[in-house]
Amino acid sequence: MPEQQPGASSIAVISRDACIGCEQCVAVCPTGAITMEDGTAVVNAELCDGCGQCVAACPASAIEMSGGEQAEAAPAEKEAQPAAAAEPAAAAKAGPAPEVWVFVEHTDGQPATVSWELLGKGKELAQALGGKVCSVLLGHEVSPLVKEAFCYGADKVYTIDDPVLGHYRTQPYLHGTIKLVEKYHPEIMLLGATTMGRDLAGAVATSLQTGLTADCTGLSIDPQSKLLEQTRPAYGGNIMATILCEKRRPQMATVRPRVMPMPERDESRTGEVIEEPLGLSEEDIAVKLVEYAREDPSHVVRIEDADILVSGGRGMGGPEGFELLQELAEAIGGTMSGSRAAVDQGWIPHERQVGQTGKTVRPKLYLACGISGAVQHLVGMQTSDVIIAINRDPNAPIFGVATLGIVGDVRDILPALTRACRARLKKEHASEAAAGEGE
Ligand SMILES: Cc1cc2nc3c(=O)[nH]c(=O)nc-3n(C[C@H](O)[C@H](O)[C@H](O)COP(=O)(O)OP(=O)(O)OC[C@H]3O[C@@H](n4cnc5c(N)ncnc54)[C@H](O)[C@@H]3O)c2cc1C
Repeated sequence: MPEQQPGASSIAVISRDACIGCEQCVAVCPTGAITMEDGTAVVNAELCDGCGQCVAACPASAIEMSGGEQAEAAPAEKEAQPAAAAEPAAAAKAGPAPEVWVFVEHTDGQPATVSWELLGKGKELAQALGGKVCSVLLGHEVSPLVKEAFCYGADKVYTIDDPVLGHYRTQPYLHGTIKLVEKYHPEIMLLGATTMGRDLAGAVATSLQTGLTADCTGLSIDPQSKLLEQTRPAYGGNIMATILCEKRRPQMATVRPRVMPMPERDESRTGEVIEEPLGLSEEDIAVKLVEYAREDPSHVVRIEDADILVSGGRGMGGPEGFELLQELAEAIGGTMSGSRAAVDQGWIPHERQVGQTGKTVRPKLYLACGISGAVQHLVGMQTSDVIIAINRDPNAPIFGVATLGIVGDVRDILPALTRACRARLKKEHASEAAAGEGE
């Protein structure tokens, strides 16, 4: 059960006569304290934290703030004391500053960069709400990450440090996160759409019975309602849907790595740290960690980390087309990737697929060869710094996002490009060597 906010001396009281049943108060209540009964809003005094958001939202002026002990007072009594209620109401309208929380994901003490990307976006959202961006850090011996969270923009870090949280397991991480949410009532909670983030976000949202939008590609605050606008592809990626979570809190969203830009790191930043105990012991946890083994990083292809991606689609015509791509990738120090059509044909493995059902990438250079530019592909690569597209169809949609377009046949252009790049690099190496000898 949520605890009363420290210092919350008042709670909402709704006049049944004045209530018009619009449910606006239900929508904005961050603790779920207001429900509808017979078309009229009613307050559960135990859940109300006195934030006053319902007072501000009510179009019929049917809600006012009153001392906690007067919560059950009859409407007639309440109406007889408007002057007494006026001051707490004004104070409560200011309420505690809304908080945007970002879950800090880490493995073996190594943070997932999506956590910092989300802090950058979280800061923007918090500014639009007039609130704060906070990190949620669970783990064991994670104090170095507290500092990092501040460097990437957190105003506050909520942390639970306990040996039970040493390696990610759903149950203790869920327990710790719920405990923090129920005590501090964040307005918004963001997690990376990674294996860990997806697992935890689903469990938290289900436990709190709140809404969760997965794989968002855009997040913003509606200036009127102050609700989180969560945009993501829908209907197979053919439309972009903006989803609102009006009635429950926190509003939860996951975002894939590389979708949001990385904020600048500022070494001088610091902030408030709030430590809480976990309140669970190893015996309470059903899942036991028997062995922990790391994948050999040299066997893992991470196209999402590459600075240069040389990507091919159906227009490459077959595996021999991908050999041309591989030659170019080797010449310029790039990594090979591709569209889903190329994966479906078996020309490249799924781990190299870019797009909605593949990876989201943000390289410095994305070379799209024989790729039409279907929306499901574009959502995975359109934020790349420079996009060069080669396609024989001048009307291919890929040219709509390309920095530079080449209309022509990949089988002619790629070998010429590879030759030109090799010649250029050879020349550069030769002049560097000559300069070295001259020194
Ligand atoms: C739910 C859902 C999820 C999806 N997820 C993804 C995803 O994650 N990633 C993804 O990529 N797709 C995804 N798709 C599929 C997507 O809709 C497209 O079908 C796919 O991206 C097309 O791949 P392509 O551009 O390689 O092939 P095509 O659309 O067939 O385009 C081939 C292009 O190559 C050009 N071409 C042909 N020959 C040559 C040549 N010799 N020289 C130069 N150009 C040539 C053609 O003009 C054409 O533009 C998804 C679809 C759905 C419904």
